[in-house]
Amino acid sequence: MNEPECRDSAIFTQPDERPSPGLLSIVIPCYNEEAVIEATHARICSIAPSLGMQLEIIYIDDGSKDSTLEKLKHLATDDTRIVVLELSRNFGQQAAMSAGLETAQGDAVVIIDADLQDPPEVILEMVAKWRTGIDVAYGRRKSRDGESVFKLISASIFYRFFAAMMPYSVPVDTGDFKLCDRAVVDTVCGLPEKRRYLRSLVPWAGFRHAPVDYDRDARTAGETKYSVVSLLSLAADALLLSSDKPVRIIWLLVIIFTFVGASGLAFSLTASAQAQTGASTVIAVIGFISAAQTAGIAIVGEYVVRCYREAQGRPTFVIRRKINSKS
Ligand code: UDP
Ligand code: MG
Repeated sequence: MNEPECRDSAIFTQPDERPSPGLLSIVIPCYNEEAVIEATHARICSIAPSLGMQLEIIYIDDGSKDSTLEKLKHLATDDTRIVVLELSRNFGQQAAMSAGLETAQGDAVVIIDADLQDPPEVILEMVAKWRTGIDVAYGRRKSRDGESVFKLISASIFYRFFAAMMPYSVPVDTGDFKLCDRAVVDTVCGLPEKRRYLRSLVPWAGFRHAPVDYDRDARTAGETKYSVVSLLSLAADALLLSSDKPVRIIWLLVIIFTFVGASGLAFSLTASAQAQTGASTVIAVIGFISAAQTAGIAIVGEYVVRCYREAQGRPTFVIRRKINSKS
């Protein structure tokens, strides 16, 4: 490990001072969520009396093509606790969450999906953890309802692979559902990088982390916004934005194929002419080596593309309009 691990909650005995009652911001990225958004809002409002905090609910419409934005505007007309950010187009969930974090005014900020897969009631436990001095109370999935076996297995493998590739400690079985203290939000929002993957940026910030275990529900309505291709693209960002280990793997390929080449040479020098394998073996070896070389170039290319995008310096998102925003 190059950097200190996130410290465990158990070692903290003295709760930090937390503002009382304090303001809690809830950030909710929304893309084509017309089927569920009103139910989500009702569930979130239902926990408000038990929170013991003032509430700010920030909905980010990430360029929805359905009636999500109209529904959000309608909700915001009678309720000044609701802020609606209308992005100028679909920028993606990571950008939408960043827009919410930058607008949030709360002493603590919760990020939660719009589809009720993450039960809003868990926020009460997160706030309780925050009050004991924890800076990041992250939801850890004990179970996941309504997901295919393929998604369950691939997600489980990916979480572990991702954690192993990061140069600092990253919790597994954890998504974006989490509460972050103001200090954490300011740290993450203050980072200059434009392309963001919050699941690695929040652990990078350090501070005091603790899990809140919960059962993840199935989507109440609507469909996932992620195809296999967009999941792969997100996975590439997850790995390449915070880890240099993929480029180091190229060295592993160099070692493997140096060994393959040396073995082939030794075989051709020592074996009799009849025993020497034919052209098909040569073609196979050349094929493997070419694939490894191409993979190496592709990995470097992925980093170059990300450097190029950062050099361009385009903003992470563009806000077309804000409703009820104080910032
Ligand atoms: N989302 C978004 N922009 C996108 C894709 C998704 O704001 O381009 C939101 C979406 O509305 C939801 C959250 O991100 O609130 C998670 O999306 P989804 O439920 O489709 O992901 P899954 O739970 O299937 O991984
Ligand atoms: Mg979902």
